[in-house]
Parts: sequence; C-alpha cells; structure tokens
Amino acid sequence: MAESVTVLANAKLNLSLDVTGKRPDGYHTVEMVMQSIDVCDQINVAKTDDGITLSCSGEEVPENEQNLAYRAAALFFERSEIDGGAAIKLKKKIPVAAGLGGGSADAAGVLLALNELYGNHFEDEELEELAAELGADVPFCLVGGTQLSEGIGSILSPLPTLQNCAFVVVKAGDKRSTGDMYAKLDSLEELDHPYTQDLVDAICEGDNIDAGRYMSSVFDKLWEFEDIREIMEDNGAAAVLVTGSGPSVFGFFPDEDNAKDAENALSDHYNNVFLCEPADHGCEID
Ligand code: ATP
Repeated sequence: MAESVTVLANAKLNLSLDVTGKRPDGYHTVEMVMQSIDVCDQINVAKTDDGITLSCSGEEVPENEQNLAYRAAALFFERSEIDGGAAIKLKKKIPVAAGLGGGSADAAGVLLALNELYGNHFEDEELEELAAELGADVPFCLVGGTQLSEGIGSILSPLPTLQNCAFVVVKAGDKRSTGDMYAKLDSLEELDHPYTQDLVDAICEGDNIDAGRYMSSVFDKLWEFEDIREIMEDNGAAAVLVTGSGPSVFGFFPDEDNAKDAENALSDHYNNVFLCEPADHGCEID
C-alpha cells in the first residue's frame, strides 16, 4: 500500500446561486449551479503512526485545527477508528477567502487522500457524507465537474460539463464573513432570484450563449463591481457575477480568445486576475 499520496483539488465557481429559504436551525437552503475550474491546490498526505501534522505554503492559512484540511483528517480518523496518522503538506494556489471554495477543496482532497492511503476504508457515498459534515461545499469539491446543488448545498445532481468556454476571475474586494453576507440577504425586502432552471436547460443543451444569459447570483446586489463588469462586457463576457458570497467576480466567455483579452485589460487595473477553464472533476489523485 502507498505510503504517501498527492491529490489535486480544484476551486469552484457558482454559475448560479439562489437562496430558497431558511431552515429552523438557521441554515439557508440554496439552489446553485456549481462549476469546478482548473485552478487547484496540491495536497500531499503521508501515512504516519499517529497524530496529524499540517504545513502550508503559497498563501497565509492557519496550520492547526482551524484549517479545514486538518479537520477533515481528524474526522476521517474519528469515524474510521483507524489507528494511524497523517502528515499533510498543502501547496495553495487557490486564492484564500475569495468565494472560490479553497478550504472546502482542501478538506475534500484530504478525505480522498486518506481514504486511498488507508485501503479505501469508506465507500464513495460514505466519503461524501463525511464531506457534508465538514461544510456544505465540501461534497461538491470532492466530486466536482458541473452540478446542480440543493438543500444546504450538499445535495448534488450532475450536469454536462461546460465546453469551449473560459472564465476570468477578479478578486477585488475584501472578504466579508459568509454569515454576515447571508444576514444582509435576509434584510433585503426582495431577492432577485436567478433563472437556475433555464441555466440548467441551457447547459444540458450545450448552449453557451443561453447559459451566459441565465447566470446570476443573489449576492450580485451586495457588491459593487460596475467597473469590472464594463471591462468584461466590452471584451465579450456573456455574464459577469459574484462567486459564493464574494468578493470575487468572474466573467463567463463563450469565446476563449475574448477571455484572454479581458484578462489583459483587467490586469491593467487589478492585481488578482486570472484566466481559467471549466474542469470535469473536483479532486483527483495525481
Ligand atoms: P467560505 O465561503 O466557505 O467562507 P471561501 O471559498 O470564500 O470560503 P476559503 O479560501 O475557503 O474561502 O477561506 C475562508 C476562511 O477559511 C479563511 O478565513 C481561511 O483562513 C479559513 N481556512 C481554513 N482552512 C483553509 C484552507 N485549507 N484553505 C483556505 N482557507 C482556509
């Protein structure tokens, strides 16, 4: 059996994000279309006799039990009752606190790596259940691709992966806590609900122009990004919206050459701009 495993864990974008209600326990129910992108963290996990260690490079994140990757390992050992340990090395490329699901991707990656290292102890479905305990986006980050996501975000239905298109992502503003952003939504009199079902239909038909028409998020209203929108649209973006609860904004480009032009134009004004493509999976063993 292998003594160490490396997993690549992709970031995500929300192509549509709707809030459909609030449960008595305070969680919001959502309806989202989620998309993996080819921007990933690299996670190396080695077997040890016991305990969990974690080191991170590339971005400033906690290197202790506050890190979602550490919590994923702790949950794996607690539930499997396996007598063993893990040394986790994280190389972060996914921008932190950006609405790109970096922490969730790392948690999913650690679950996949440990399951591989310890003899596939859990079936795929069991691993997804553990993922859901760590966070609503973690099951998506494990499976990835293009998915309709419901419930509190962890009920997934696969969709065809988008083809022949690109995204340009800009991390412009500062993160406000996800909880605060949902509280702000609750205080709005009315939400501009996205056309999620129309987006799903367009994706199923492989119609990128229509897909762009129906991409939006209830969080768009809570961020100012008119300047970014203008540059994106001048360069051919079919949609410009916020991912997660922000602050990152992305443009959807049915023409990949246009996306390159938009990336260049935006880089003159903003620091954190990158071009990416849809990926058909979340985490995979390297
Ligand atoms: P969310 O919407 O779930 O808050 P996000 O996608 O906007 O997440 P993340 O990159 O996951 O952003 O970071 C959110 C917070 O989680 C940060 O404050 C960060 O310090 C903390 N965090 C814990 N573990 C990690 C990790 N492995 N990678 C990134 N951030 C992490």
